Amino acid sequence: MNIEQIRADFPILQETVYGKPLVYLDNAATTHKPQQVIDAVSEVYLKYNSNIHRGVHHLSNVCTQAHEEARIKVQQFINAQHSHEVIFTRGTTESINLLASSFADTFLNAGDEILVSQLEHHSNIVPWQLLEKKKGVILKYIPINQAGELILDNIDELINDRTKLVAVAHISNALGTVNPIKTIIQQAHSKNIPVMIDGAQAVQHVKVDVQELDCDFYVFSGHKLYAPTGIGVLYGKEEWLNKLEPYHGGGEMIKTVSFEGTTFNELPFKFEAGTPDFSGSVGLGAAIDYVNNIGIDVIAQYEHELLSYATQQLSSIPNIRFFGTAAEKASVISFLIGEIHPFDIGTMLDRMGIAVRTGHHCAQPLMQYYNIPGTLRASFAIYNTKEEIDKLTEATERIAQLFG
Ligand code: PMP
Repeated sequence: MNIEQIRADFPILQETVYGKPLVYLDNAATTHKPQQVIDAVSEVYLKYNSNIHRGVHHLSNVCTQAHEEARIKVQQFINAQHSHEVIFTRGTTESINLLASSFADTFLNAGDEILVSQLEHHSNIVPWQLLEKKKGVILKYIPINQAGELILDNIDELINDRTKLVAVAHISNALGTVNPIKTIIQQAHSKNIPVMIDGAQAVQHVKVDVQELDCDFYVFSGHKLYAPTGIGVLYGKEEWLNKLEPYHGGGEMIKTVSFEGTTFNELPFKFEAGTPDFSGSVGLGAAIDYVNNIGIDVIAQYEHELLSYATQQLSSIPNIRFFGTAAEKASVISFLIGEIHPFDIGTMLDRMGIAVRTGHHCAQPLMQYYNIPGTLRASFAIYNTKEEIDKLTEATERIAQLFG
């Protein structure tokens, strides 16, 4: 892996912050975009911007083809069986809301249970809680231990005959824990219960094969995978997607409309009402090409080295406490130093050009478990380096000394 070449692909890395070179360690929030993605999106607007599907004219056909090619790139990237199992959404949040709404309309009644975990992002908690109010469903969670690992000891009771869906993160955004999703999927399937995996923090770090995992739904956002904001994916097995009610109503998702009634389009269009984000999808396709060119396994190994190095270097800081010490982790390091508020450290790091995230990371139930207001989180991507980790370590140590 040629790190210098990779860094040169990301123009934003040349920016300075307060006169200092940018050290960007907030990749779990969003990643930067390589020139190849920026160019692909520009090309849409420069050369073939046009509304897609049903167009008789040339530009519309070119644009439709680019959008549908992007869908095939996603299909291949996650190894879905069919391209029509890939639904484009605005991101993970919309994908989960789509699923929650459609699944509830089709399958859920009062007293039914949805099982999540204690370390979920709010976007895999709140959509299900909204159903508690609307439908009287009950939200349960798989607890975690101090290391930030899911405790599966009682999974047999948690997944029971009232459970209608299990929805868990592949990788925790706040801790980096890689969850044992395969075991959970097998356990749920042994009771014929479908499973949704929130892959927002996974597709950019590890190989995802939805057929091998055998998950029923898998969701992710483009913007954390070097693609533009505003595009995401809901993968669903054909048999499940065909059973679900549509989510949004409008153009594209219908076959026929009359005041007597409407018939719905086939997959994937049944779930894609309105003009799709075709520049976003093309950008996502370019991001997938970019990742594939480097190789996801190469990326995984490099980021793993960065994570081990960061853990080792930061460990030398007196009074550092790590949150998330699971045996299997990816690309996220969450910590506190003594009693210093994470916001204070984060603000001072920013002045040194180092971007980290502070706060609850949209995982307040997890923070409640640890009884802390939040953490400092450094999260790594393909363009980060050990030198940047040294800068983070030195700066954090200096700040800690200032606070005494
Ligand atoms: N789930 C996880 C695990 C996440 O990390 C995020 C983003 N931080 C989301 C869901 C929501 O993603 P988005 O904001 O792109 O919809």
